[in-house]
Amino acid sequence: MPELPEVETIKRGLLPRLRGKVIRRVIIPDDSRGSRLLRRYPSKRSFIRKLTGRRIITLKRRAKYLLLHLDTNEILIIHLGMSGQLLLLPDRSVAPPYTRLILKIAAAGRLCLIDPRKFGEVYLFSKKEGHTTIDPFSLGPEPLLKSFTPEVLGRSLKKSRSVIKTVLLDQKIVAGLGNIYTDEALFRAGIHPRRRSSGLTGREIERLFQGIREVLREAINLHGTTAADRRYVDSKGEPGRFQARLNVYQRKGERCPRCGAIIETVKLGGRTAHFCPHCQK
Ligand SMILES: [Zn+2]
Repeated sequence: MPELPEVETIKRGLLPRLRGKVIRRVIIPDDSRGSRLLRRYPSKRSFIRKLTGRRIITLKRRAKYLLLHLDTNEILIIHLGMSGQLLLLPDRSVAPPYTRLILKIAAAGRLCLIDPRKFGEVYLFSKKEGHTTIDPFSLGPEPLLKSFTPEVLGRSLKKSRSVIKTVLLDQKIVAGLGNIYTDEALFRAGIHPRRRSSGLTGREIERLFQGIREVLREAINLHGTTAADRRYVDSKGEPGRFQARLNVYQRKGERCPRCGAIIETVKLGGRTAHFCPHCQK
């Protein structure tokens, strides 16, 4: 799933090309009994009507959501689900298979949301009225902002009864982390994914805080992680480069780059955690 660094990379790629541009047409190719893409939005017709002709003021990111701020009081929120791609293609190009949404944008091209597995969603969020049932702004802190501190993280971790891997995946604790960056942050902090969140020491919380920050910053610098499924690409179709820096994620059976022990996995809350049994206590 695209996580914070991948969505940030997509945003940075699209921002200079979409800022100030007008959405001329909105096409939702999947017509079979209402699109799953809009499953939480009341009406496809009103969605299309409200978007058409709108100018994109700016693009932002919140957690794993891409936010297109429009010249109305509305924000088009895009979530790429498990394996969605957002490509800005030239005007006359043919939409790739599994394209669920096309925005024809004047003097920019066709913004295509491609989503074979249909876990992606779009919402039109009105700042005043709140049309949608999901409010992405009730998420936890953005880990790269100043408001996220070791104290903030520590308070949340102390309250939880679950294991640390599961707690870090909770978007209300830290927003934007998924399976890749929780595994990598825990490795950097030397913390076993099965540890109780409430049992971490102050020093461990500090190391985890640093681990989260570092891994996200490095991943953004390398344009995200294109994992073994090769689904993630940026808005130009380019893969990320952080996969070469992964220490444990999807490296089961390989040697730990720090100590040489064999990387193992454990199932926790339905997710697979990758870890080094020697470096992570
Ligand atoms: Zn190790």
